[in-house]
Amino acid sequence: MMSKLALYIHIPFCARKCRYCDFLSFDDRYALTGRYIDRLGREIGDGADEYGEYEVSSIYIGGGTPSILRTGMIGDLMRIVHEAYDVDEDAEISIEVNPGSADAAKLAEYRSCGINRLSIGLQSAHDHELITLGRIHTLADFEDTYRTAREAGFDNINIDLISAIPGQDTESWRSTLDYVTALEPEHISAYSLQLEEGTYFDDHRDEYDWVDEDTDREMYHMTADVLGNAGYDRYEISNYARPGYECRHNIVYWRGGAYLGFGIGAASYADGVRFRNTDSIEEYLKGAGCTESIPLSESDMMAEFMFLGLRMTAGVSRKEFEDRFFRSIEDVYPHQIGECIRDGLITDTQDGYRLTDRGSDISNFVFAKFL
Ligand code: SF4
Repeated sequence: MMSKLALYIHIPFCARKCRYCDFLSFDDRYALTGRYIDRLGREIGDGADEYGEYEVSSIYIGGGTPSILRTGMIGDLMRIVHEAYDVDEDAEISIEVNPGSADAAKLAEYRSCGINRLSIGLQSAHDHELITLGRIHTLADFEDTYRTAREAGFDNINIDLISAIPGQDTESWRSTLDYVTALEPEHISAYSLQLEEGTYFDDHRDEYDWVDEDTDREMYHMTADVLGNAGYDRYEISNYARPGYECRHNIVYWRGGAYLGFGIGAASYADGVRFRNTDSIEEYLKGAGCTESIPLSESDMMAEFMFLGLRMTAGVSRKEFEDRFFRSIEDVYPHQIGECIRDGLITDTQDGYRLTDRGSDISNFVFAKFL
């Protein structure tokens, strides 16, 4: 049987930098898009020399704002992918789009080149909160994009949301959740805003009314309740889906599967080695690719198995751990497992372990125990 591979393609261009964003993206390099796409196409093609024996089970075009590219560019990239790799005919192929940058022509192009899943960044159903976040779009722009996407035939749509926006209260967050569930997307990602170093928010932190930790947790529990009642299963700490619509691409990351990343800053993982491309667009355009390659030790891989797997609501499987590492979880992590169970942070399922509600509230603390 052929091994499975997930592909990630990074498009680092945005119309404007959002105030919370520390992703590798630029709002002043649009003139480089043509050269970047040419270079990306070559990198994708070259990758097949080494990974041609894999079968591609998912592709994710993320950013940045992939939908900012002019019509035709995504289609060109997808043609190269299909020529170079053996893409499973049932593969999940996603693209991130931002309201205001994906018109009907682009959405039709995405459909026709095999993209079957959209991830739309909404973040909030309130225009004043979108302004606070520094988003380029209004709620009306989002409604346009969402309707056009459905008309174009997309039947697998994710909507991205952010809670704990400065000035937001639980009532406002609740109304965003109600608004989104009424649209019935197949998938919802709901992250709590984090203050990241080097962002606009970080530089202007004193000017905003930050949501306190208790309210943040209240919003998190509200999200699980409202989305749960609307038929969405929480299958990862911040991700909810209607049954059968869990994001297969992200599950590859959380389950320690092989993936190949293309474009600046993109990470790859295959055969026990992690790679990372240069962050510099200038260097990348000159031909630089992977600048870092880290072979993972067995203990690194076991730790990743635990803290990535625990992100999933289903948790980690004892059998899978033993099949992969020929040792039991309890043998490798006797103290961590004992302490986490004693403190009510994880629970013993029949198959392995998963986070409790209390563990989900302080998940980073739990994950750190396995590092
Ligand atoms: S659109 Fe996304 S990648 Fe671009 S600046 Fe905003 S959050 Fe960052």
